[in-house]
Amino acid sequence: MKPINILFIGLSLVVSTAILVPNFVKPRPAGQSACVSTLIWYKELKEEWRRLNPDKKGIVPTGYDLLGEKWGASMSSCPSGGTYTFGTQEEDPVCSIGGPRHSIPNGLKANK
Ligand SMILES: [Zn+2]
Repeated sequence: MKPINILFIGLSLVVSTAILVPNFVKPRPAGQSACVSTLIWYKELKEEWRRLNPDKKGIVPTGYDLLGEKWGASMSSCPSGGTYTFGTQEEDPVCSIGGPRHSIPNGLKANK
């Protein structure tokens, strides 16, 4: 590959990251914990993944499935030290701590 092509690809990645990353960092409603915001974000990513992968029912997506190449840098962890579990397409993502400040609010829970 010519150096100019590599430069172009690198520049494209920088530009697309600059456009995409601010979209991932949404301001959260007052009173919502950082953990709940992250769980809702993962839920939105999973819904998008489900829409694109209707054949993967019952399968638990990986961080790579949801975020592609940049998943390692973009994955958030619970500020209180909980561990996130994505769950299958039909389940909501959960934090191992649980409780109101570490769970998807009732109004946003998946219909089972
Ligand atoms: Zn948590």
